[in-house]
Amino acid sequence: MKVVFLGTSGSMPTPERGSSAIALIRGREVILFDCGEGAQRQMVAAHIGITRPKKIMVTHLHGDHVLGIPGLLQSMTLQGREDPLDIYGPVGTAAYVQAFTSTLGGPGFKVTIYEVQGPGVVYDSKEYRIEAVRADHSMEAWSYALVEYPRPGRFHPERARSLGVPEGFLWKRLQDGGGVDAGGRVVHPSEVMEPPRPGRKVVYSGDTRPSEGLAELAEGADLLIHEATFDEILVERAV
Ligand SMILES: [Zn+2]
Repeated sequence: MKVVFLGTSGSMPTPERGSSAIALIRGREVILFDCGEGAQRQMVAAHIGITRPKKIMVTHLHGDHVLGIPGLLQSMTLQGREDPLDIYGPVGTAAYVQAFTSTLGGPGFKVTIYEVQGPGVVYDSKEYRIEAVRADHSMEAWSYALVEYPRPGRFHPERARSLGVPEGFLWKRLQDGGGVDAGGRVVHPSEVMEPPRPGRKVVYSGDTRPSEGLAELAEGADLLIHEATFDEILVERAV
């Protein structure tokens, strides 16, 4: 897993920093957390193919977190993307996407919007789930956690071969946790696989004041990405 900070500047981009956007690269999958202005240019600079993201997780609809989406979708279309794209975000995300696609022209691929209706699991698969909790911001905003399920341990083909299990569907059965018959003797997964590896947890706050819900969400996280626009010196302005 690799996390690339495409933009970390609050409110406005600076010469050194783009608006909020984070790319989480997990195996072959790229998930964007927010997509501020200039995110696609930063993706090019970071050698992340701009057509790769399958999901965009939007924390909230402040411009500095979402103004990169129209440009990114247009470039994806220009590059001939056909894969569907899922965008998760607060209520209003669908209207926002509708507003720019209806005026600029729709993307050449299917875009599905999932508006987060409440805290809890917003996406689930065999490999991981994404949970949302309310952030404490000046508009509806969500913090997200990507929580991986335990991953199977490493498979050792040479051990399987030496125990008389030929390559093919029997290997798959071992990898899926089942025992297989190899010439009258049962070979167990533990003989050819290492123990399962614990899943990882990455949490992204988006803009927020200190939040109890986020603290709970972040418990046990391997990585917490937390915004920090105002420190103690700026407390009056922050309030
Ligand atoms: Zn904001």
